[in-house]
Amino acid sequence: METHHTDYLILVNPFHKIPESYFDNLELVEMRGYDNELFRVEKEAAQQFRKLEKAASAKGIPILLSSAYRSVEKQLQIKEEFTAEYGADYAKRYVAEPGCSEHHTGLALDFVAKIRGKWLIENDEIIERASELQPVYDLLPQYGFILRYLKGKEKITGYPAEPWHIRYLGDPEIAAEITAQGITLEEYCERVSKS
Ligand SMILES: [Zn+2]
Repeated sequence: METHHTDYLILVNPFHKIPESYFDNLELVEMRGYDNELFRVEKEAAQQFRKLEKAASAKGIPILLSSAYRSVEKQLQIKEEFTAEYGADYAKRYVAEPGCSEHHTGLALDFVAKIRGKWLIENDEIIERASELQPVYDLLPQYGFILRYLKGKEKITGYPAEPWHIRYLGDPEIAAEITAQGITLEEYCERVSKS
């Protein structure tokens, strides 16, 4: 019997498009996020994010989803809308190419956090106060997540630092190793492929 499973270590970035075959095994579940918005998340990542939400809340920093799975078709539509409204240069700079967004995997999640009674929802606010989110970052590996886009790693990941974008890797040990070493998923994958 053929077994199907999600490739939790899949690399999707501006240099690696998501393969069509990935979607054969992708199981998405619905999940409520900020403002009661409904998102779709890969099944196991959703379970682990629920645990992360509880743990973060217990540390005094409630978190909620603000973005999750996005289809390639949806990304194409966003690209077209941005191109029509702001021009091709702007769209190229700020909107990921369809097929190249990690959000296609269902394993990449953006979150917002409530700090001292106020939800931080704007990207600029989160960037400015990212150090206050350290207790949440410290919890990520034990649930199998990493902070995906780090400062100083822009050339490797293809993205600026995004202190709200986390990625599920399916294995707390790998997440802990990547976090402890301060490396990116790109660097980890390269090391593994060479060893
Ligand atoms: Zn994101």
